[in-house]
Amino acid sequence: MQRLAAVVLPERCPACSGPTTKGFCSGCRAELPRIEDPCVVCGLPKPVAHCPRQRGDWHVAAVRAPFRYAPPLDAYLHKLKFGRARALGRALALAAAPTLAAGVDARSEKDPLLVPVPLSRERLVERGFDQAVEIARALARELTLPVDTAVATRRRPIAPQSLLGARERRANVAGLFGVTRPAAVHGRAVIVVDDVITTGATANALADALRSAGATRVEAWAVARTIA
Ligand SMILES: [Zn+2]
Ligand SMILES: [Zn+2]
Repeated sequence: MQRLAAVVLPERCPACSGPTTKGFCSGCRAELPRIEDPCVVCGLPKPVAHCPRQRGDWHVAAVRAPFRYAPPLDAYLHKLKFGRARALGRALALAAAPTLAAGVDARSEKDPLLVPVPLSRERLVERGFDQAVEIARALARELTLPVDTAVATRRRPIAPQSLLGARERRANVAGLFGVTRPAAVHGRAVIVVDDVITTGATANALADALRSAGATRVEAWAVARTIA
């Protein structure tokens, strides 16, 4: 075993290629734009003018996203998504994990289930890669939490959320998700995982479906949060 360990290549930082022990090197990790003192319910920096907790149709108990969707992290996420840069996905998950882990309730008897926000079949076939699955799997390994990628499905492709305002986004994703295996989520806490949360409309639509299927509590975790 010792001889084998000696020939294993040292890990390289996926951002700068410098030496690192795990994921990003300390320099690149320190450059990630952190959100200080966010609102627990929506993940936006306080004070929040229009927190969705005041809306009756908000089903997400907490949004946890340690970083702002801004340079240099936006470029990393782009490269993960379109360049299938798996090492970046793992590094981003590792960097986010300590903040996200604060959301795990140690008192509950069952670990929460990680559920990546599903892509539509069409999008998955077209891209052949699902960045939310990559991040959810890396988080599951790091935090020793269960992950299930087959609990929910996206029923249809939608117009890109980035082209729409907040109200249109909510209408665009209404009824978007179906829970295919309700037994897996009934009576347990679920954490939906995505790469970026913008308005939270997509995570909220999935949370709505999961709560209807019997999930006791749904949180939304992401690497980054868009801040207008
Ligand atoms: Zn680096
Ligand atoms: Zn809030």
